[in-house]
Amino acid sequence: MGLAEIKERIRQAEIENGRDAGSVTLIAVSKVQPNERVESVLNQGHRVFGENRVQEAAGKWPDFRSRFEGIELHIIGPLQTNKVRQAMQLAEVIHSVDRPKLAEAIARIAQEIGSCPDLFVQVNTGLEEQKAGIAPRDVDGFVKECRALDLPVRGLMCIPPVDEEASMHFALLAKMAERNGLDGLSMGMSDDFEKAISFGATHVRVGSAIFGARTYS
Ligand SMILES: *Cc1c(COP(=O)(O)O)cnc(C)c1O
Repeated sequence: MGLAEIKERIRQAEIENGRDAGSVTLIAVSKVQPNERVESVLNQGHRVFGENRVQEAAGKWPDFRSRFEGIELHIIGPLQTNKVRQAMQLAEVIHSVDRPKLAEAIARIAQEIGSCPDLFVQVNTGLEEQKAGIAPRDVDGFVKECRALDLPVRGLMCIPPVDEEASMHFALLAKMAERNGLDGLSMGMSDDFEKAISFGATHVRVGSAIFGARTYS
């Protein structure tokens, strides 16, 4: 696969689902990928990237930013409270707002520095113990809390359980976003981004299908 093919498939999915052209944002998930592969995707004109870990993002994106205009970085992985400030300085968007303490830390730093990335609330739609995220029954209350803190919540994010049909999770996330007046839906990865688009995804997070398999050393 690769960038061009994924972009084309997203375009097709937009057409099939009556979505406006370009209404789905492709986040190229570059975690663990060698810099040459990331640079190749940058050279093909892509500018929206996702990273899981703040540390790793801090190690490569300042340099890429100095060489390429218009980069938009999304933090999509679990965020420790002591990394919040760094994450907010590095990223335009954070997809992993998953607990009140984190929301409060973001709000405090936003006050201090006078700006805040766009935020997605991560929902643990499968109620998996090992996974981060707000439980579905607590989402409405948590979104209210974030709004009371003046946080720019743009949407909801989920990572469905690997062994379950993703559709029901995408549908659930879409319903929760709608009833909370949120337009953003961050859902869908390499194996299911077209399905996610059919359920209304506005942001798909695609890694291996663009860059090739991740090799962890
Ligand atoms: C790694 C990752 C992705 C991308 O996964 P692929 O299967 O490589 O497309 C998407 N979202 C999150 C939160 C991830 O950690």
